Amino acid sequence: MAVKPYAGDAQRRQERQQNYDIAPTISERWPEVRSVAVDLRFARMERRTLPMPYRQIFLPPMRAFFAFLCPDPECRNGGFDLTPTIERGHARHGGAIHGTLACGGQRPTRERGWAACEIELQFDVIFDDDPPASA
Ligand SMILES: [Zn+2]
Repeated sequence: MAVKPYAGDAQRRQERQQNYDIAPTISERWPEVRSVAVDLRFARMERRTLPMPYRQIFLPPMRAFFAFLCPDPECRNGGFDLTPTIERGHARHGGAIHGTLACGGQRPTRERGWAACEIELQFDVIFDDDPPASA
C-alpha cells in the first residue's frame, strides 16, 4: 500500500536539497581527510521493519552533509542530521565519534493516533586522516 505523500514533505525535501547544495565538500571542510565512514544502526522500532545496519563512506569530493532520512516511510518531519555532531566531534575527538540520536518525527499509530517516532539511530563515525607530513 502506497503511503500518501504529506504536503510538508515536498518543502522538507527542498530544504534538505538546499542544505546539501550549500554544504562544503569533505576536502574543503577537512583537507587532510581521506574518507569518513559512517556506520548506521537503527533501533526501537516497535512493529516496524528495521533496515539492516549499513555503512556509508564519504570521500573527499563528496559533500560534508550527513543528514539521513528516517527509515519509517510514514514518519513525518523525521530524520537524523549528524552534520553538527560530526563537525564538533571531529574538532574535539579527531578520529572516531559514537553516539545515538532519536528521530524527532511523528508517525501514525492505530492505538494512539499520531505519536513520536522515536526510532533511534546508533552511529559510529570513523575518520581516515592523512598522517601528518614528517619534516
Ligand atoms: Zn522517524
